[in-house]
Amino acid sequence: MSSNNPAPQVRTRFAPSPTGFLHIGGARTALYSWAYARRHGGTFILRVEDTDVARSTPEAVQAILDGMKWLGLDHDEGPFYQMRRMDRYKDVIRKMLDSGKAYHCYTTPEELDAMREAQRERGEKPRYDGRWRPERGKAMPAQPAGVKPVVRFRNPTEGVVAWHDVVKGRIEIANAELDDLIIARADGTPTYNFCVVVDDWDMRITHVIRGDDHVNNTPRQINILRALDAPVPQYAHLSMILGPDGQKLSKRHGAVSVMQYDEDGYLPEAVLNYLARLGWSHGDAEVFDMRQFCAWFDLDHITPSAAQFNNEKLLWLNQHYLKLADNARLAADVAQRLARRGVDPGQGPALEAVIGLYKERVATLNELADAAESFYVDLHPPADLLAQHLTPAARAALADLRKRLAAADWSKAALSQAIKETLAATALKMPQVAIPLRVALLGQPQTPSIDAVLEVMGRELVLTLLDRHL
Ligand code: GLU
Repeated sequence: MSSNNPAPQVRTRFAPSPTGFLHIGGARTALYSWAYARRHGGTFILRVEDTDVARSTPEAVQAILDGMKWLGLDHDEGPFYQMRRMDRYKDVIRKMLDSGKAYHCYTTPEELDAMREAQRERGEKPRYDGRWRPERGKAMPAQPAGVKPVVRFRNPTEGVVAWHDVVKGRIEIANAELDDLIIARADGTPTYNFCVVVDDWDMRITHVIRGDDHVNNTPRQINILRALDAPVPQYAHLSMILGPDGQKLSKRHGAVSVMQYDEDGYLPEAVLNYLARLGWSHGDAEVFDMRQFCAWFDLDHITPSAAQFNNEKLLWLNQHYLKLADNARLAADVAQRLARRGVDPGQGPALEAVIGLYKERVATLNELADAAESFYVDLHPPADLLAQHLTPAARAALADLRKRLAAADWSKAALSQAIKETLAATALKMPQVAIPLRVALLGQPQTPSIDAVLEVMGRELVLTLLDRHL
């Protein structure tokens, strides 16, 4: 098949402002932009929109990079920093001034206030009245001395600006609603909407996927793109994410920073799978990895309505992915969590084996670390727990068992056999021996199957711990 006008290669971008953490909403935007590029063999660009110097911090830039890395959302180009592109923006502004697509405006802030006040009194919407906008045959005001001008974009006055939003459908705004946007401040620095336009143009972005808090910027951005003869990308504005209570997702709802999920013991693949479904669907598929997601992801199945965050579902997915995860990988993670608690899993039972015992029984990596911790600390179960379970009869049974364990072949089958022999010798029932044994070894009446626990703990540790109670 040949075509004179092949569809351009898909190029998407994630363009966070580094004013805080990478939050869940931002991560979803990044994920969708990334997946769309991957789906189409395109290019995913990371752009840091750091022109708000008062609010942007290097720590926030790092937090975004860390969050993207943790999620595995790798970019093909960038990160580009807007602050390093100032010369380019200024150059475009100069050209727009030269070609009459933009103009200097000397209106002072006081004049603007007065203008708005008068408009309000007349019941009109406050807007710049175009007094410095050059028109054929228009007498321009005299340039005031000592006033540094801003630069305004000459917005079309007639007609409408419309686009087909891939998520929200057709959106149309009358140009009469839009006044002439300031594209450079009096000190020469370009403004937010203008930088976005130049970047999307220079970076040849084909699909702008972003939060719907930017819908209002889009008509202005489209008009500037058109004035620059730049192609207009497709826009997909994602609806916001609500907390479980239906309010806008915020800190009140718990973790909102992506890295907080790492800290709380979530696996990145669980968070990704969760975010993928938070506002997009593929039939009733709930559980899928990123390969599958990238093969399926399309913009047509993004839901226009707000998505609601559901912690239980995320936890459920986490549990699912913990079961699938490789023991060695989980052990490496849990070792770090234990180290942060001052617990060294280097001495004692093999951590991978401990992980194997528990990974199907927990919902988070922190719970896994909690369970593993008992295998590596000098365990002193609380006195009331000991009094409750280590009754004289239980101690006698454990003493019997100790003798058998000292001589047993250390395999699950042999350990299970030793316990059975103790049951026969003492005429006790399984729980009457197994529960005191669990309390003595791990300080908990409930553990995974006791023969598996014994096997993983090893003879030396088991006998040492038993001896404390005999
Ligand atoms: N920097 C903007 C934000 O963090 C995104 C701008 C865009 O995607 O066009 O909300």
